[in-house]
Amino acid sequence: MGTIRLSGIGRSFKSTAAVRDITLTIDDGDFLVLLGPSGCGKTTLLRMIAGLLEPTTGRIELDGEDITDLPSKKRDLAMVFQSYALYPHLSVRRNLAFPLRVQKLGKDEIERRVQDVAASLEIDHLLDRKPKELSGGQRQRVAVGRALVRDPKAFLMDEPLSNLDAKLRTQTRQELTALHRRLGATFVYVTHDQVEAMTMATRIVVLNAGRIEQYGTPEEVYDRPESVFVAGFLGSPAMNLLDARVVGAGGRISVAAEGLAGDLWAGSTDALDVVLGIRPEHLEIADAAGPRAGVSIAVTVDIVENLGGEQILTCTSGAGRVHMRTSRAVRIAEGAELTLRAAPEHVHLFERSSGRRLE
Ligand code: ATP
Repeated sequence: MGTIRLSGIGRSFKSTAAVRDITLTIDDGDFLVLLGPSGCGKTTLLRMIAGLLEPTTGRIELDGEDITDLPSKKRDLAMVFQSYALYPHLSVRRNLAFPLRVQKLGKDEIERRVQDVAASLEIDHLLDRKPKELSGGQRQRVAVGRALVRDPKAFLMDEPLSNLDAKLRTQTRQELTALHRRLGATFVYVTHDQVEAMTMATRIVVLNAGRIEQYGTPEEVYDRPESVFVAGFLGSPAMNLLDARVVGAGGRISVAAEGLAGDLWAGSTDALDVVLGIRPEHLEIADAAGPRAGVSIAVTVDIVENLGGEQILTCTSGAGRVHMRTSRAVRIAEGAELTLRAAPEHVHLFERSSGRRLE
């Protein structure tokens, strides 16, 4: 079991409120990713769960037990740091054995657990080396191994892949996902990398300025962002966010801005300043025979970037910059003037004054 419950957790540093009033349940077996830009409070929140930092307000429970004031060592949680924090003068074997020696387990039991974990992470041939004799990827595995030997109730990880090169990052990401499935344990994982969040998480918490901006599955957060902040944070290129005005008339809503027009969902509303959100992959080149509903945008293509299988167009429109992702089979030249269209179900609407999703 490893259910973590946070109630009203906050932490201030002098006048800075790093984490504000966070209430959240991390279910047993979840792979929860804390995602957000630099300085949003991810590490501060993780360190409070780990017991490395005291909350200013609120309460933390592990499987129903209040652990808010319990010292880090007594929490049945294991932390993997970005820096790996291995002991440089100890061999891999002794690094792995360290947490078990602290627990005063017998020699044979320690050796058996170290061997088991080393074999499962495929680092058994490295047991007699020192950390400086390992590659970055191998060090990272040892750091995970040191968390694993303790068989904790939950694993807490702070950007554990950020020191790896792109190829190794992808490989290690997949290994961590497989490890999570195999162990069925609770993982709480800090990153600012949206690809890590989308691919590994069972649940994502998007943090903004110390508060929860959105909580949900990766699909919910990507497909139905609750705010302009979340919409602009996930996706590469990010969702197009265009200022426009909607006007309700005769049971439909028209949307307008310079170079932009369309009809959206049926309903009625007072005239309202909005932000329209459209993902680059949901734009297509308008074709006279195509569907008429939705939003169309007149653009000039500034840059065509070839990504191999597909291309990214960076365009200018009267309502702002627009990115479109499309197959390379579509031949488009820089300087071309086009009309792009998005179907109504792919247009997200946010109230401009609050930044919150409408509907
Ligand atoms: P990053 O992705 O850059 O690591 P983060 O989301 O993990 O960022 P935190 O490290 O939790 O952010 O920091 C949140 C806020 O708290 C920041 O404004 C930071 O400057 C501040 N902060 C963090 N630790 C301290 C500290 N020990 N003393 C003062 N301010 C701090």
